[in-house]
Amino acid sequence: MTIASKITTAHRQRLAVVYIRQSTMAQVRENTESTARQYALVDEAARLGWDSSSIVVIDSDLGTSGRSASRVGFKELVGRVCIGEVGAIFGLEVSRLARSSADLQRLLELCSLTDTLIIDPDGTYDLSSFNDRLLVGLKGTMSEAELHVLASRLQGAKRAAAERGDLRFPLPVGYVYDDDGNTVMDPDEEVRAAVADVFAAFQATGSAYGVVGAFEGRRFPKRAYGGAWAGDIRWGRLTHSRVIGLLSNPGYSGAYVFGRYRSRRVVEPDGTIRTKTTELPRDEWAVVIRDHHPAYISWDTYVANGQRLAANCTRKGARPPREGSALLQGIVLCGACGRAMSTSHSYGGIYDCSHSRADHTEIPGCRSIMAWVVDGPVAERLLDAVSPVEVAVALAAADEVADRRGRSSRALELRVERARYEAARCERAFHNCDPDNRLVARSLEQRWEAKLKELADAERELVLSTATPALPSRDDIEAVAKDLQRLWTAATTSDKDRKRMLRALIADVTLTSETDGDKVHIGICWRSGAAEELVVARPAPASVTRRTPQAAIDLIARLGPQRSNEQLAVELNATGLVTGTGRRFDAKTVSWLRYAYRVPSASPFAPGELSVRDVAERLGVSDIAIYYWINHGQLQARRSAGGRWCVPFPPEVERECQQRVASSPRIKARTQPSTAGGAV
Ligand SMILES: [Zn+2]
Repeated sequence: MTIASKITTAHRQRLAVVYIRQSTMAQVRENTESTARQYALVDEAARLGWDSSSIVVIDSDLGTSGRSASRVGFKELVGRVCIGEVGAIFGLEVSRLARSSADLQRLLELCSLTDTLIIDPDGTYDLSSFNDRLLVGLKGTMSEAELHVLASRLQGAKRAAAERGDLRFPLPVGYVYDDDGNTVMDPDEEVRAAVADVFAAFQATGSAYGVVGAFEGRRFPKRAYGGAWAGDIRWGRLTHSRVIGLLSNPGYSGAYVFGRYRSRRVVEPDGTIRTKTTELPRDEWAVVIRDHHPAYISWDTYVANGQRLAANCTRKGARPPREGSALLQGIVLCGACGRAMSTSHSYGGIYDCSHSRADHTEIPGCRSIMAWVVDGPVAERLLDAVSPVEVAVALAAADEVADRRGRSSRALELRVERARYEAARCERAFHNCDPDNRLVARSLEQRWEAKLKELADAERELVLSTATPALPSRDDIEAVAKDLQRLWTAATTSDKDRKRMLRALIADVTLTSETDGDKVHIGICWRSGAAEELVVARPAPASVTRRTPQAAIDLIARLGPQRSNEQLAVELNATGLVTGTGRRFDAKTVSWLRYAYRVPSASPFAPGELSVRDVAERLGVSDIAIYYWINHGQLQARRSAGGRWCVPFPPEVERECQQRVASSPRIKARTQPSTAGGAV
């Protein structure tokens, strides 16, 4: 039986669908032969008698793995078969139409119902024929089995290679494979220095964000995998996620690890299937070979870094030291309910049992307290306790600073060296090129110039960095270290550092307030396991400590009705009195006290003066008329300090005004609204 004999006119009147798929983008990029063969099926369809207008190519699944759920093209194919518009499906292999046997069986079932042929280079299959259906089904099953065997063989070989530490995978930046396939440190010194500095910066700052800050304005290398730049080092900004990646990569401790991640396929609530990759706990990693290659950090440092990162992760309940002066932030507990107290930074810091209040579980002992009340005594105890180790701590810190300074200028030196090398290379290329080939010569010259500019930039930066003031000598530091008290209170010591020092020795602090007294019991739990208790008195509430002196209030009450606020302020300051917060009195403060103690204001009117309202009443007209006269210069008046109009109103002015009222028809109309309806 020939291919053509199964194809009838009815098939040719419908569409010929060429379904093209290729598992990965890499296959699409590299295995162009296969893609080309698949597209050639279009010509085959035309040869078998389909009109070119009725040949449809579905290629939206190119680069999509058969395991991924969102194969739009396959869905489209099934849809078109269902509505019966497809006469034949063209594919390279029947089994390649669908990767799972179930999908293929469903497609075959639909094809047999709608009389759709399947055509591959081996022949034509009419699914309504039992023989053909059996054959196609068998091919699908065999293909699936083949895939399984292939995959398990590959996995087995992979695992065996991994157990020997021979399985190669892309190396993190800072490492390369040498000619024999061994993992070695990157020969580029600048790359090595940058990687080492990440670990040093984490040691110094204690957080991944701190590392990002330390690399501000400095470049960090990245090795490109795949794509046009494959294998090349590119320089860019160091991001937070990269820092986390570097710190949590066991490879930098010289360990070879296989099976750090596990991927599973999960069904989403909406029915789509997704591959989820999770990192396994360290003890579940399949292969760990320590000292497999040269290390940037020790294994212990790697483990410690991991713990430090976890302790920084507030999302998982950790409370790392933060900026802000409240010393016990993150380690203070409520003695009444036992929960962690939160730290608010208003009013110089307050420890507050806010969780219990939020949950409505607070008990009378759950009281907030100003941070300074507790911090002082705790810090004092800490400084007493720490004295025997004072020199050691300070010297370690000093060495670290010197080391960091040295490393940062070393990185700049390396950058200058690299720039010089590249400029020299460009220069050589320029001199070697044929001077007649002007296009090439010009572009080489431009590149040389660009490199020279880069070199100048790098050199300038190096000069700037070396010009920074020298570090204090070790003797100076030793002298300072003897006096830890001064180091603790020095302006250069950050709050964060103080908290770290505190946490090195103190595990937590429990605050228990007396419910009926003003004492607070501070329970210090030392890391050594010892515990001790300090008792401090709560400060008097602000309503007591910040109250205005009674003498000042008496003075305001006595003189208030006769004096202006400014005059009172002058008199109060003359007596030497100050406000509740220790400031001098001013008009604003006096005005507030006048309001608070209900002291009437001094009258703004001089003898013989009246307010606008009084004048209007005396004349029997509206206030508006009086304001009109004042604004138009028809009536003398002055503004008081508070902005009120004061009208001198001797009898002659009163008479003049009365005459004006009597002669003005409009004012009469206004004051006798019943007789006329005119507007003013
Ligand atoms: Zn509480």
